[in-house]
Amino acid sequence: MRAWYERNTGNRRTICYNNLWHSSHVYNLVRSGRKQPYKPLTACAVLFFMKEKTPEDYMRLALSEAKKARDIDEVPVGAIIVHQGKIIARAHNLREKNQQASAHAELLAIQKASKKLGTWCLNECDLYVTLEPCMMCSGAISLSRIHHLYYGTDDPKGGAVISRMDLKTIPHIGAYPRAITGGILKEDCAYILSDFFREKREKTKRKKNTGTTDIPEPANDEHASCM
Ligand SMILES: [Zn+2]
Repeated sequence: MRAWYERNTGNRRTICYNNLWHSSHVYNLVRSGRKQPYKPLTACAVLFFMKEKTPEDYMRLALSEAKKARDIDEVPVGAIIVHQGKIIARAHNLREKNQQASAHAELLAIQKASKKLGTWCLNECDLYVTLEPCMMCSGAISLSRIHHLYYGTDDPKGGAVISRMDLKTIPHIGAYPRAITGGILKEDCAYILSDFFREKREKTKRKKNTGTTDIPEPANDEHASCM
């Protein structure tokens, strides 16, 4: 029986010798440069999370904020603020919930970031927002000295960065943000808005047809944080 076991499986000592041989063989291959050393799983995970994020990565996070707004029937606009590679503020539009005209995603994010850093001056921060900021938010972004503004889709009706006015051409006010980049994940950012307003219109139409209410049509049918 013992002979059969050793012949078919190898006894403990044989297995141990095999492991030792394998380890030293791999070690020699690594030393001679013929094989890359194994990277522990934890090191790979750390490298993954330390990977520098792209503007698209951050805009996806802003989009997830916009989805939170949509889920509570707010106009879906989301914003995040990044300081030294770290997200320090996330916010979404809360105008209806708070019943405040100023509760736009950008303003709420700026307030959170200032509170977090203990300063009104956010000149080391970048702001990502899914929709081109309105006049109010563009002013706040400029006055809080955001370094780089990234936005998703243009707002041809109310955008005050490039659409309705060119922020960078205004003396003094246009000094900040230092850089502006639009069109990050443009299609995704536009779709969430147009889909939201399409559903609103359909809902209003259904209610009108059943004669249960006289809820008015939305003032702006798309791309409007200030509808
Ligand atoms: Zn705004």
